[in-house]
Amino acid sequence: MSSNNSKNLTVAKFGGTSVADFQAMQRCVNIIKNDPATRLVVVSASSGVTNSLVRLGQENVSEQERIQTIDSIRAIQLNIVEHLSNKADFIDQIETLLALLSQTAEQQAAHYSAKTADEILSFGERMSSTLFAEIMRMEGLPGECFDVRQVMKTNSLYGKAVVDVDELKSNCSALLKATLENKVVVTQGFIGQDGLGCTTTLGRGGSDYSAALLAEALDADNLAIWTDVVGIFTTDPRITSHARAIKEISFGEAAEMATFGAKILHPATLIPAMRHNIPVFVGSSKEPEKGGTYIQKQVESRPTYRSIALRKEQTLVTVKSPAMLHASGFLAKVFSILAKHELSVDLITTSEISVALTFDNPPGSTQAQLTDQVIKELGQLSQVKVENGLSLVAVIGNNLHNAQGTTSTIFNTIEQSNVRMICQGASQHNLCFLVNEDAANDVVEKLHHKLFA
Ligand code: ADP
Ligand code: ASP
Ligand code: MG
Repeated sequence: MSSNNSKNLTVAKFGGTSVADFQAMQRCVNIIKNDPATRLVVVSASSGVTNSLVRLGQENVSEQERIQTIDSIRAIQLNIVEHLSNKADFIDQIETLLALLSQTAEQQAAHYSAKTADEILSFGERMSSTLFAEIMRMEGLPGECFDVRQVMKTNSLYGKAVVDVDELKSNCSALLKATLENKVVVTQGFIGQDGLGCTTTLGRGGSDYSAALLAEALDADNLAIWTDVVGIFTTDPRITSHARAIKEISFGEAAEMATFGAKILHPATLIPAMRHNIPVFVGSSKEPEKGGTYIQKQVESRPTYRSIALRKEQTLVTVKSPAMLHASGFLAKVFSILAKHELSVDLITTSEISVALTFDNPPGSTQAQLTDQVIKELGQLSQVKVENGLSLVAVIGNNLHNAQGTTSTIFNTIEQSNVRMICQGASQHNLCFLVNEDAANDVVEKLHHKLFA
């Protein structure tokens, strides 16, 4: 991604493991130094910090747990400060933020609100970006930390706030663009601010999306996502050691992978990139020399099978009503309940008298979940059955909706497994199904062996 043209702009995003400690941050700074086009840097919280903050933002956290959790965050941040030349100053800055965090967490324990939970979540990125800017300066770059909440304006849907893209663009022109001429700006992923001036968050893993939105708003030429693997793989390399990095992938295929749970990219990341046709690079900040994956509009090959994504902790809800027989409006009623609770559905299948829907429902999520209230309201409409312990497997590729033999190849390979629900045909890029969680890794491994060996 190197460029000698100073007019080119690359937005680079570094994830949690890439900014986990001082040495990791230094590696990122070297990557930035090697590409003069990189003038906007988006960082995540240091690895593990957001998980701790999620806990602090929950209900029923005892005082002792609060203190321990804040101490564990302090240890991560001060470990980095230890290596800074301007140590005393940064101890002060981190302690000031931690004192504010402690006060906010205390407020939350006394009176829970989703708004305060988002405020709590923002501290991870606020701390990591402050420290990252200083390491850039220590390494001779004109680093400057910028509070993204000045430009990333959102609605007040705490936990999964929606960004005002037009406002972001005009704010970036007014408040950020000029600074990029002579500074390397580091800013926070994941967070934004609503019209009331309160902090919001874009959903777990949202820094990728923040970076893509900023790249779009600034008319960037490239977006680079630096993480802990050397690109996008044929499946999660944690599931099988046979997974291999993909050199080049189309926007459509990569977007389907992200949507169906490949954790490597936040599901919405490619929306701004596709809108603005910004090529996206994914690589490892630990091994930048190994290259990575290029995601772009035009690709040389479009294979039938590109990758397999797995998303665990899925809930299947079956709503069954004899009244649906020859009736209209039943589905509209079901969906109006879901819309009221801001829930999004992933897969759907219907029969004459029932509809089955899947929801991404992980317990650590900061987003709206399938609550008892939702089930109760659906129950007032008809009979409802809820099944947990399921995983969604998505085979991603091209022309899967009518390529000959795909269905038999896939299901013959996993014939020993109990397949709970199948969705095919809506997209040319995916074929999805649900299996029991305890069989999921095995199913992916078997399929990977069949499709990619
Ligand atoms: P970051 O903190 O940099 O955002 P994440 O943990 O969110 O990193 O995403 C990187 C992880 O995504 C990898 O370590 C890998 O285990 C997982 N992953 C899931 N599916 C894939 C895939 N298809 N290709 C590469 N990595 C994947
Ligand atoms: N720090 C946030 C998270 O862990 C956002 C991100 O890393 O992308 O979810
Ligand atoms: Mg991530």
